[in-house]
Amino acid sequence: MRISIQILLAFSIVLILSIIDSASNYVFSLKVEENITFLNKSQDVIRNSGRLNKSIIEMQSAFRGYLLTNDTIFLNDYNEGLREIPVLISAQQELVTSNKKQFFILQKIKALHKQWVTYATRLIEASKKSTTSDEALKTYNELFKTQLRNKVGKNLNDQISIQFTAFDRIEYKIRKQRSDNLVSSIDFTHTLSLIFFILTLIVGIGSTIYIMRSILRRIRTMVNQASRIATGDFATVNDPYHDELTSLSISLNTMSTNLNRNITELEKRNQELDKFAYVVSHDLKAPVRGIHNAVTWIEEDLGNELSPELKKYLAIIPQRTKRMEDLINGLLDYARLNTKSIPEKTDVNQLVSEIVEAVVPRKFVVHIEGLPVILADRLKLEQVFTNLISNAVKYTQSENAAIFIRCSELQEYFEFSVKDNGIGIEPEYHEKIFEIFQTLREKDEKESTGIGLAIVKRIIDDLHCTIKVISSLNGGSEFIFTWPKIKIQ
Ligand code: ADP
Repeated sequence: MRISIQILLAFSIVLILSIIDSASNYVFSLKVEENITFLNKSQDVIRNSGRLNKSIIEMQSAFRGYLLTNDTIFLNDYNEGLREIPVLISAQQELVTSNKKQFFILQKIKALHKQWVTYATRLIEASKKSTTSDEALKTYNELFKTQLRNKVGKNLNDQISIQFTAFDRIEYKIRKQRSDNLVSSIDFTHTLSLIFFILTLIVGIGSTIYIMRSILRRIRTMVNQASRIATGDFATVNDPYHDELTSLSISLNTMSTNLNRNITELEKRNQELDKFAYVVSHDLKAPVRGIHNAVTWIEEDLGNELSPELKKYLAIIPQRTKRMEDLINGLLDYARLNTKSIPEKTDVNQLVSEIVEAVVPRKFVVHIEGLPVILADRLKLEQVFTNLISNAVKYTQSENAAIFIRCSELQEYFEFSVKDNGIGIEPEYHEKIFEIFQTLREKDEKESTGIGLAIVKRIIDDLHCTIKVISSLNGGSEFIFTWPKIKIQ
Protein backbone atom coordinates (compact mmCIF):
# COMPACT_ATOMS: atom_id res chain seq x y z
CA MET A 1 0.00 0.00 0.00
CA ARG A 2 1.28 3.51 -0.88
CA ILE A 3 2.63 5.55 2.07
CA SER A 4 0.21 8.41 1.33
CA ILE A 5 -2.74 5.95 1.49
CA GLN A 6 -1.39 4.46 4.74
CA ILE A 7 -1.18 7.93 6.29
CA LEU A 8 -4.65 8.82 4.94
CA LEU A 9 -6.11 5.57 6.31
CA ALA A 10 -4.64 6.08 9.79
CA PHE A 11 -5.82 9.68 9.78
CA SER A 12 -9.32 8.62 8.64
CA ILE A 13 -9.63 5.96 11.37
CA VAL A 14 -8.58 8.50 14.03
CA LEU A 15 -11.04 11.00 12.55
CA ILE A 16 -13.91 8.48 12.49
CA LEU A 17 -13.24 7.48 16.09
CA SER A 18 -13.21 11.13 17.14
CA ILE A 19 -16.46 11.77 15.23
CA ILE A 20 -18.16 8.78 16.90
CA ASP A 21 -16.91 10.02 20.27
CA SER A 22 -18.24 13.53 19.64
CA ALA A 23 -21.55 12.16 18.28
CA SER A 24 -22.11 10.03 21.40
CA ASN A 25 -21.38 13.06 23.57
CA TYR A 26 -23.81 15.12 21.49
CA VAL A 27 -26.57 12.49 21.85
CA PHE A 28 -25.89 12.45 25.57
CA SER A 29 -26.15 16.24 25.81
CA LEU A 30 -29.53 16.04 24.02
CA LYS A 31 -30.67 13.53 26.62
CA VAL A 32 -29.56 15.79 29.45
CA GLU A 33 -31.38 18.70 27.85
CA GLU A 34 -34.54 16.61 27.41
CA ASN A 35 -34.31 15.59 31.06
CA ILE A 36 -33.94 19.16 32.24
CA THR A 37 -37.03 20.11 30.22
CA PHE A 38 -38.90 17.19 31.74
CA LEU A 39 -37.84 18.13 35.28
CA ASN A 40 -38.99 21.71 34.75
CA LYS A 41 -42.34 20.45 33.48
CA SER A 42 -42.59 17.94 36.33
CA GLN A 43 -41.92 20.75 38.79
CA ASP A 44 -44.91 22.60 37.34
CA VAL A 45 -47.06 19.46 37.50
CA ILE A 46 -46.25 18.87 41.21
CA ARG A 47 -46.77 22.56 42.00
CA ASN A 48 -50.12 22.58 40.17
CA SER A 49 -51.17 19.36 41.84
CA GLY A 50 -50.47 20.91 45.28
CA ARG A 51 -52.36 24.07 44.37
CA LEU A 52 -55.34 22.14 43.06
CA ASN A 53 -55.43 19.90 46.10
CA LYS A 54 -55.15 22.92 48.39
CA SER A 55 -57.94 24.76 46.54
CA ILE A 56 -60.24 21.75 46.84
CA ILE A 57 -59.48 21.44 50.57
CA GLU A 58 -60.05 25.17 51.08
CA MET A 59 -63.35 24.92 49.25
CA GLN A 60 -64.35 22.01 51.48
CA SER A 61 -63.39 24.01 54.61
CA ALA A 62 -65.37 27.04 53.40
CA PHE A 63 -68.37 24.80 52.84
CA ARG A 64 -68.14 23.34 56.33
CA GLY A 65 -67.55 26.82 57.84
CA TYR A 66 -70.67 28.19 56.19
CA LEU A 67 -72.84 25.28 57.32
CA LEU A 68 -71.60 25.64 60.92
CA THR A 69 -71.79 29.46 61.24
CA ASN A 70 -74.12 30.51 58.47
CA ASP A 71 -71.60 33.28 57.94
CA THR A 72 -71.68 34.19 54.22
CA ILE A 73 -68.07 35.28 54.36
CA PHE A 74 -67.19 31.57 53.93
CA LEU A 75 -69.07 31.55 50.66
CA ASN A 76 -66.43 33.88 49.15
CA ASP A 77 -63.74 31.15 49.42
CA TYR A 78 -66.24 28.59 48.21
CA ASN A 79 -67.12 30.66 45.12
CA GLU A 80 -63.43 31.38 44.53
CA GLY A 81 -62.86 27.58 44.44
CA LEU A 82 -65.75 27.15 42.03
CA ARG A 83 -64.04 29.49 39.55
CA GLU A 84 -60.46 28.45 40.10
CA ILE A 85 -60.59 24.63 40.28
CA PRO A 86 -61.83 23.90 36.71
CA VAL A 87 -59.12 26.24 35.34
CA LEU A 88 -56.42 24.48 37.39
CA ILE A 89 -57.64 21.02 36.30
CA SER A 90 -57.52 22.06 32.59
CA ALA A 91 -54.03 23.52 33.00
CA GLN A 92 -52.86 20.34 34.71
CA GLN A 93 -54.42 18.18 31.99
CA GLU A 94 -52.52 20.12 29.35
CA LEU A 95 -49.24 19.42 31.14
CA VAL A 96 -49.85 15.65 31.29
CA THR A 97 -51.45 15.02 27.87
CA SER A 98 -48.69 12.49 27.06
CA ASN A 99 -49.45 10.43 30.18
CA LYS A 100 -52.82 8.72 29.78
CA LYS A 101 -52.98 7.44 33.37
CA GLN A 102 -52.50 10.90 34.90
CA PHE A 103 -54.88 12.42 32.40
CA PHE A 104 -57.50 9.82 33.36
CA ILE A 105 -56.97 10.49 37.11
CA LEU A 106 -57.53 14.21 36.52
CA GLN A 107 -60.76 13.36 34.66
CA LYS A 108 -61.79 11.32 37.70
CA ILE A 109 -60.89 14.18 40.12
CA LYS A 110 -62.85 16.52 37.91
CA ALA A 111 -65.91 14.21 37.99
CA LEU A 112 -65.66 13.61 41.78
CA HIS A 113 -65.26 17.35 42.40
CA LYS A 114 -68.26 18.01 40.20
CA GLN A 115 -70.28 15.51 42.27
CA TRP A 116 -69.10 17.16 45.48
CA VAL A 117 -69.94 20.65 44.16
CA THR A 118 -73.48 19.47 43.31
CA TYR A 119 -73.79 17.98 46.80
CA ALA A 120 -72.38 21.06 48.54
CA THR A 121 -74.34 23.58 46.47
CA ARG A 122 -77.60 21.79 47.30
CA LEU A 123 -76.84 21.94 51.03
CA ILE A 124 -75.74 25.62 50.87
CA GLU A 125 -78.83 26.60 48.89
CA ALA A 126 -81.04 24.63 51.34
CA SER A 127 -79.31 26.26 54.32
CA LYS A 128 -79.84 29.72 52.81
CA LYS A 129 -83.58 29.06 52.32
CA SER A 130 -84.12 27.33 55.71
CA THR A 131 -84.79 30.63 57.47
CA THR A 132 -87.54 31.61 55.05
CA SER A 133 -90.14 28.92 55.93
CA ASP A 134 -90.70 25.82 58.03
CA GLU A 135 -91.01 23.83 54.84
CA ALA A 136 -87.56 24.98 53.75
CA LEU A 137 -86.09 24.25 57.20
CA LYS A 138 -87.58 20.79 57.07
CA THR A 139 -86.04 20.19 53.58
CA TYR A 140 -82.71 21.37 54.86
CA ASN A 141 -82.83 19.14 57.93
CA GLU A 142 -83.81 16.21 55.74
CA LEU A 143 -80.92 16.90 53.40
CA PHE A 144 -78.53 17.36 56.33
CA LYS A 145 -79.60 14.03 57.75
CA THR A 146 -79.40 12.03 54.53
CA GLN A 147 -76.35 13.65 52.97
CA LEU A 148 -74.05 15.11 55.62
CA ARG A 149 -74.77 12.62 58.35
CA ASN A 150 -74.27 9.77 55.86
CA LYS A 151 -70.86 11.26 55.03
CA VAL A 152 -71.62 11.60 51.31
CA GLY A 153 -69.38 14.65 51.11
CA LYS A 154 -66.62 13.06 53.20
CA ASN A 155 -66.57 9.97 50.98
CA LEU A 156 -66.21 12.14 47.89
CA ASN A 157 -63.40 14.11 49.56
CA ASP A 158 -61.59 10.91 50.54
CA GLN A 159 -61.82 9.61 46.97
CA ILE A 160 -60.49 12.92 45.62
CA SER A 161 -57.59 12.78 48.07
CA ILE A 162 -56.84 9.12 47.06
CA GLN A 163 -56.78 10.22 43.39
CA PHE A 164 -54.36 13.05 44.23
CA THR A 165 -52.04 10.62 46.00
CA ALA A 166 -52.16 8.28 42.98
CA PHE A 167 -51.51 11.19 40.62
CA ASP A 168 -48.46 12.40 42.57
CA ARG A 169 -47.12 8.87 42.96
CA ILE A 170 -47.12 8.40 39.18
CA GLU A 171 -45.32 11.75 38.71
CA TYR A 172 -42.63 10.88 41.29
CA LYS A 173 -42.20 7.43 39.76
CA ILE A 174 -41.61 8.91 36.30
CA ARG A 175 -39.14 11.36 37.79
CA LYS A 176 -37.21 8.56 39.44
CA GLN A 177 -37.16 6.54 36.23
CA ARG A 178 -35.92 9.54 34.33
CA SER A 179 -33.13 10.26 36.78
CA ASP A 180 -32.11 6.56 36.82
CA ASN A 181 -31.99 6.63 33.02
CA LEU A 182 -29.88 9.76 33.09
CA VAL A 183 -27.40 8.27 35.54
CA SER A 184 -27.04 5.10 33.48
CA SER A 185 -26.70 7.10 30.27
CA ILE A 186 -23.98 9.23 31.96
CA ASP A 187 -22.16 6.02 32.88
CA PHE A 188 -22.63 4.62 29.38
CA THR A 189 -21.38 7.82 27.72
CA HIS A 190 -18.38 7.97 30.04
CA THR A 191 -17.45 4.37 29.25
CA LEU A 192 -18.00 4.94 25.53
CA SER A 193 -15.90 8.12 25.59
CA LEU A 194 -13.11 6.33 27.44
CA ILE A 195 -13.17 3.40 24.99
CA PHE A 196 -13.05 5.72 21.97
CA PHE A 197 -10.33 7.85 23.53
CA ILE A 198 -8.17 4.76 24.19
CA LEU A 199 -8.90 3.43 20.67
CA THR A 200 -7.99 6.80 19.13
CA LEU A 201 -4.75 6.85 21.12
CA ILE A 202 -3.87 3.27 20.16
CA VAL A 203 -4.66 3.77 16.46
CA GLY A 204 -2.98 7.21 16.36
CA ILE A 205 0.20 6.29 18.20
CA GLY A 206 0.33 2.76 16.76
CA SER A 207 -0.02 3.84 13.15
CA THR A 208 2.48 6.69 13.61
CA ILE A 209 5.06 4.32 15.11
CA TYR A 210 4.37 1.70 12.42
CA ILE A 211 4.65 4.17 9.52
CA MET A 212 7.69 5.95 10.99
CA ARG A 213 9.51 2.69 11.73
CA SER A 214 8.84 1.10 8.37
CA ILE A 215 9.74 4.31 6.51
CA LEU A 216 12.86 4.98 8.59
CA ARG A 217 14.07 1.40 8.20
CA ARG A 218 13.72 1.60 4.43
CA ILE A 219 15.27 5.06 4.20
CA ARG A 220 18.21 3.77 6.24
CA THR A 221 18.61 0.85 3.80
CA MET A 222 18.63 3.31 0.90
CA VAL A 223 21.10 5.65 2.58
CA ASN A 224 23.27 2.59 3.12
CA GLN A 225 22.93 1.64 -0.51
CA ALA A 226 23.83 5.20 -1.62
CA SER A 227 26.93 5.14 0.65
CA ARG A 228 27.97 1.79 -0.82
CA ILE A 229 27.51 3.15 -4.35
CA ALA A 230 29.66 6.15 -3.38
CA THR A 231 32.47 3.80 -2.32
CA GLY A 232 32.25 1.83 -5.56
CA ASP A 233 30.12 -1.07 -4.36
CA PHE A 234 27.28 -0.98 -6.87
CA ALA A 235 24.76 -2.94 -4.83
CA THR A 236 21.01 -3.10 -5.49
CA VAL A 237 18.28 -3.61 -2.88
CA ASN A 238 14.86 -5.18 -3.13
CA ASP A 239 12.05 -3.03 -1.75
CA PRO A 240 8.82 -5.00 -2.25
CA TYR A 241 6.21 -2.51 -0.95
CA HIS A 242 5.13 -0.84 -4.24
CA ASP A 243 4.92 2.69 -2.87
CA GLU A 244 6.70 6.03 -3.25
CA LEU A 245 9.86 4.77 -1.52
CA THR A 246 9.91 1.74 -3.82
CA SER A 247 10.07 4.17 -6.78
CA LEU A 248 13.06 5.85 -5.14
CA SER A 249 14.65 2.47 -4.52
CA ILE A 250 14.08 1.45 -8.18
CA SER A 251 15.77 4.70 -9.30
CA LEU A 252 18.71 4.00 -6.99
CA ASN A 253 18.98 0.45 -8.32
CA THR A 254 18.90 1.70 -11.92
CA MET A 255 21.56 4.28 -11.10
CA SER A 256 23.68 1.64 -9.39
CA THR A 257 23.34 -0.82 -12.29
CA ASN A 258 24.13 1.86 -14.90
CA LEU A 259 27.13 3.08 -12.94
CA ASN A 260 28.36 -0.47 -12.52
CA ARG A 261 28.01 -1.13 -16.25
CA ASN A 262 29.75 2.11 -17.20
CA ILE A 263 32.58 1.64 -14.72
CA THR A 264 33.12 -1.95 -15.81
CA GLU A 265 33.13 -0.76 -19.43
CA LEU A 266 35.57 2.02 -18.52
CA GLU A 267 37.85 -0.36 -16.65
CA LYS A 268 37.79 -2.71 -19.63
CA ARG A 269 38.66 0.15 -22.00
CA ASN A 270 41.45 1.30 -19.68
CA GLN A 271 42.85 -2.18 -19.53
CA GLU A 272 42.74 -2.42 -23.32
CA LEU A 273 44.47 0.95 -23.58
CA ASP A 274 47.14 -0.07 -21.07
CA LYS A 275 47.63 -3.30 -22.93
CA PHE A 276 47.90 -1.43 -26.19
CA ALA A 277 50.39 1.07 -24.73
CA TYR A 278 52.36 -1.77 -23.22
CA VAL A 279 52.52 -3.78 -26.46
CA VAL A 280 53.30 -0.74 -28.62
CA SER A 281 56.02 0.56 -26.32
CA HIS A 282 57.47 -2.91 -25.92
CA ASP A 283 57.53 -3.39 -29.70
CA LEU A 284 59.02 0.07 -30.26
CA LYS A 285 62.05 -0.75 -28.10
CA ALA A 286 63.60 -3.13 -30.66
CA PRO A 287 63.56 -0.71 -33.67
CA VAL A 288 64.89 2.14 -31.50
CA ARG A 289 67.72 -0.08 -30.30
CA GLY A 290 68.25 -1.09 -33.95
CA ILE A 291 68.64 2.56 -35.03
CA HIS A 292 71.07 3.17 -32.18
CA ASN A 293 73.09 0.10 -33.14
CA ALA A 294 73.09 1.05 -36.83
CA VAL A 295 74.46 4.52 -36.02
CA THR A 296 77.15 3.01 -33.78
CA TRP A 297 78.15 0.59 -36.56
CA ILE A 298 78.31 3.40 -39.12
CA GLU A 299 80.54 5.43 -36.80
CA GLU A 300 82.76 2.43 -36.07
CA ASP A 301 83.08 1.08 -39.63
CA LEU A 302 82.88 4.25 -41.75
CA GLY A 303 84.11 6.83 -39.22
CA ASN A 304 87.01 7.96 -41.45
CA GLU A 305 84.94 8.38 -44.54
CA LEU A 306 82.30 10.62 -42.96
CA SER A 307 82.35 14.38 -43.42
CA PRO A 308 82.53 16.42 -40.16
CA GLU A 309 79.07 17.71 -40.94
CA LEU A 310 77.63 14.20 -41.16
CA LYS A 311 79.47 13.13 -38.01
CA LYS A 312 77.84 16.04 -36.17
CA TYR A 313 74.38 14.97 -37.32
CA LEU A 314 75.03 11.32 -36.56
CA ALA A 315 76.09 12.23 -33.02
CA ILE A 316 72.62 13.65 -32.37
CA ILE A 317 70.92 10.33 -33.13
CA PRO A 318 72.02 8.41 -29.95
CA GLN A 319 70.81 11.33 -27.79
CA ARG A 320 67.40 11.15 -29.45
CA THR A 321 67.18 7.37 -29.30
CA LYS A 322 68.10 7.55 -25.59
CA ARG A 323 65.22 9.97 -25.05
CA MET A 324 63.00 7.71 -27.11
CA GLU A 325 63.97 4.81 -24.87
CA ASP A 326 63.24 6.89 -21.76
CA LEU A 327 59.78 7.73 -23.11
CA ILE A 328 59.09 4.10 -23.96
CA ASN A 329 60.21 2.98 -20.49
CA GLY A 330 57.99 5.65 -18.92
CA LEU A 331 55.05 4.48 -20.99
CA LEU A 332 55.76 0.90 -19.97
CA ASP A 333 55.79 1.94 -16.31
CA TYR A 334 52.51 3.82 -16.80
CA ALA A 335 50.86 0.86 -18.56
CA ARG A 336 52.04 -1.53 -15.85
CA LEU A 337 50.28 0.47 -13.12
CA ASN A 338 47.14 -1.60 -13.47
CA THR A 339 48.70 -4.56 -11.73
CA LYS A 340 47.20 -5.08 -8.31
CA SER A 341 49.30 -5.99 -5.31
CA ILE A 342 48.44 -6.85 -1.71
CA PRO A 343 49.07 -4.23 1.01
CA GLU A 344 52.03 -5.07 3.22
CA LYS A 345 53.52 -3.63 6.38
CA THR A 346 55.75 -0.82 5.15
CA ASP A 347 58.22 1.22 7.12
CA VAL A 348 57.88 4.49 5.18
CA ASN A 349 60.92 6.00 6.92
CA GLN A 350 63.10 3.13 5.73
CA LEU A 351 61.56 3.18 2.24
CA VAL A 352 62.17 6.93 1.82
CA SER A 353 65.72 6.68 3.23
CA GLU A 354 66.57 4.01 0.62
CA ILE A 355 65.19 6.19 -2.19
CA VAL A 356 67.10 9.24 -0.91
CA GLU A 357 70.24 7.11 -0.78
CA ALA A 358 69.75 6.06 -4.41
CA VAL A 359 68.65 9.29 -6.12
CA VAL A 360 69.70 12.33 -4.03
CA PRO A 361 73.24 13.71 -4.55
CA ARG A 362 75.41 14.43 -1.50
CA LYS A 363 75.20 18.22 -1.83
CA PHE A 364 71.47 18.08 -0.88
CA VAL A 365 70.41 18.39 2.74
CA VAL A 366 67.50 16.03 3.37
CA HIS A 367 65.16 16.42 6.36
CA ILE A 368 62.93 13.43 7.11
CA GLU A 369 60.36 13.83 9.84
CA GLY A 370 57.76 11.56 11.45
CA LEU A 371 57.34 8.96 8.75
CA PRO A 372 55.16 6.08 10.06
CA VAL A 373 54.98 2.34 9.63
CA ILE A 374 51.82 1.65 7.64
CA LEU A 375 49.97 -1.04 5.78
CA ALA A 376 50.36 -0.11 2.11
CA ASP A 377 51.05 -1.24 -1.43
CA ARG A 378 54.79 -0.83 -1.02
CA LEU A 379 55.69 -0.77 -4.71
CA LYS A 380 53.22 2.00 -5.54
CA LEU A 381 54.25 4.12 -2.54
CA GLU A 382 57.85 3.66 -3.64
CA GLN A 383 56.96 4.80 -7.19
CA VAL A 384 55.29 7.94 -5.80
CA PHE A 385 58.18 8.90 -3.52
CA THR A 386 60.80 8.05 -6.16
CA ASN A 387 59.16 10.33 -8.75
CA LEU A 388 58.60 13.21 -6.31
CA ILE A 389 62.11 13.02 -4.79
CA SER A 390 63.74 12.67 -8.26
CA ASN A 391 61.83 15.75 -9.44
CA ALA A 392 62.88 17.67 -6.31
CA VAL A 393 66.51 16.83 -7.18
CA LYS A 394 66.04 17.48 -10.91
CA TYR A 395 64.49 20.90 -10.44
CA THR A 396 66.67 22.23 -7.61
CA GLN A 397 70.00 23.78 -8.58
CA SER A 398 70.63 26.18 -5.70
CA GLU A 399 73.83 26.02 -3.64
CA ASN A 400 72.07 25.14 -0.39
CA ALA A 401 69.68 22.63 -1.96
CA ALA A 402 67.40 21.00 0.59
CA ILE A 403 64.54 18.52 0.54
CA PHE A 404 61.98 18.16 3.39
CA ILE A 405 59.90 15.00 3.70
CA ARG A 406 57.28 14.72 6.43
CA CYS A 407 53.97 13.11 7.33
CA SER A 408 50.94 14.13 9.39
CA GLU A 409 48.10 11.87 10.41
CA LEU A 410 44.50 12.80 9.48
CA GLN A 411 41.38 10.92 10.53
CA GLU A 412 41.18 8.57 7.55
CA TYR A 413 44.40 9.35 5.72
CA PHE A 414 48.11 9.96 6.09
CA GLU A 415 49.22 13.21 4.54
CA PHE A 416 52.76 13.13 3.09
CA SER A 417 54.72 16.11 1.83
CA VAL A 418 57.85 16.37 -0.34
CA LYS A 419 59.22 19.91 -0.40
CA ASP A 420 62.23 21.44 -2.14
CA ASN A 421 63.76 24.89 -2.48
CA GLY A 422 64.19 24.58 -6.25
CA ILE A 423 63.02 26.52 -9.28
CA GLY A 424 59.32 26.21 -8.46
CA ILE A 425 56.36 26.15 -10.83
CA GLU A 426 54.17 29.03 -11.96
CA PRO A 427 50.62 28.70 -10.57
CA GLU A 428 49.06 28.43 -14.05
CA TYR A 429 50.85 25.08 -14.55
CA HIS A 430 49.88 23.52 -11.20
CA GLU A 431 47.21 21.31 -12.85
CA LYS A 432 48.91 20.76 -16.20
CA ILE A 433 52.07 19.16 -14.76
CA PHE A 434 50.04 16.08 -13.71
CA GLU A 435 49.00 15.34 -17.32
CA ILE A 436 51.01 12.75 -19.25
CA PHE A 437 53.87 14.06 -21.44
CA GLN A 438 53.51 17.57 -19.95
CA THR A 439 56.90 19.19 -19.26
CA LEU A 440 57.57 22.84 -18.63
CA ARG A 441 60.97 23.09 -20.29
CA GLU A 442 62.68 22.09 -23.53
CA LYS A 443 62.37 18.34 -23.97
CA ASP A 444 66.09 17.85 -24.23
CA GLU A 445 67.09 20.45 -21.71
CA LYS A 446 66.69 17.99 -18.85
CA GLU A 447 65.97 14.30 -18.72
CA SER A 448 62.35 15.18 -19.03
CA THR A 449 59.60 12.86 -20.27
CA GLY A 450 56.50 14.31 -18.56
CA ILE A 451 55.47 10.85 -17.33
CA GLY A 452 56.61 10.85 -13.68
CA LEU A 453 53.84 13.05 -12.21
CA ALA A 454 51.23 11.36 -14.45
CA ILE A 455 52.20 8.03 -12.87
CA VAL A 456 52.02 9.59 -9.37
CA LYS A 457 48.59 11.12 -10.10
CA ARG A 458 47.23 7.85 -11.44
CA ILE A 459 48.37 5.87 -8.38
CA ILE A 460 46.85 8.49 -6.05
CA ASP A 461 43.58 8.61 -8.08
CA ASP A 462 43.25 4.82 -8.01
CA LEU A 463 43.38 4.99 -4.21
CA HIS A 464 40.68 7.74 -4.18
CA CYS A 465 43.24 10.08 -2.60
CA THR A 466 44.40 13.57 -3.54
CA ILE A 467 47.57 15.31 -4.59
CA LYS A 468 48.29 19.02 -4.92
CA VAL A 469 51.26 21.28 -5.37
CA ILE A 470 52.06 24.49 -3.52
CA SER A 471 54.63 26.43 -5.49
CA SER A 472 55.63 29.68 -7.17
CA LEU A 473 58.30 30.48 -9.69
CA ASN A 474 61.74 30.35 -7.94
CA GLY A 475 59.96 29.77 -4.62
CA GLY A 476 60.48 25.99 -4.33
CA SER A 477 57.72 23.40 -4.61
CA GLU A 478 55.82 21.33 -2.10
CA PHE A 479 53.91 18.25 -3.27
CA ILE A 480 51.28 17.13 -0.73
CA PHE A 481 49.44 13.85 -1.17
CA THR A 482 47.16 11.68 0.96
CA TRP A 483 47.44 7.92 1.39
CA PRO A 484 44.67 5.68 2.78
CA LYS A 485 44.89 4.35 6.33
CA ILE A 486 44.44 0.60 6.45
CA LYS A 487 44.21 -0.69 10.01
CA ILE A 488 46.95 -3.16 10.94
CA GLN A 489 45.03 -6.13 12.38
P1 ADP B 1 59.50 15.12 -16.02
O1 ADP B 1 60.07 15.44 -14.70
O2 ADP B 1 60.04 13.89 -16.57
O3 ADP B 1 59.44 16.25 -16.94
P2 ADP B 1 57.12 14.94 -14.55
O4 ADP B 1 55.78 14.46 -14.94
O5 ADP B 1 57.75 14.30 -13.38
O6 ADP B 1 58.00 14.77 -15.81
O7 ADP B 1 57.03 16.47 -14.31
C1 ADP B 1 56.29 17.29 -15.18
C2 ADP B 1 56.81 18.70 -15.10
O8 ADP B 1 56.51 19.29 -13.83
C3 ADP B 1 58.32 18.79 -15.20
O9 ADP B 1 58.72 18.86 -16.56
C4 ADP B 1 58.65 20.07 -14.46
O10 ADP B 1 58.53 21.16 -15.31
C5 ADP B 1 57.53 20.18 -13.43
N1 ADP B 1 58.04 19.74 -12.10
C6 ADP B 1 57.85 18.53 -11.51
N2 ADP B 1 58.37 18.51 -10.27
C7 ADP B 1 58.92 19.74 -10.05
C8 ADP B 1 59.62 20.34 -8.97
N3 ADP B 1 59.88 19.67 -7.83
N4 ADP B 1 60.05 21.62 -9.11
C9 ADP B 1 59.79 22.31 -10.24
N5 ADP B 1 59.13 21.80 -11.30
C10 ADP B 1 58.69 20.51 -11.22
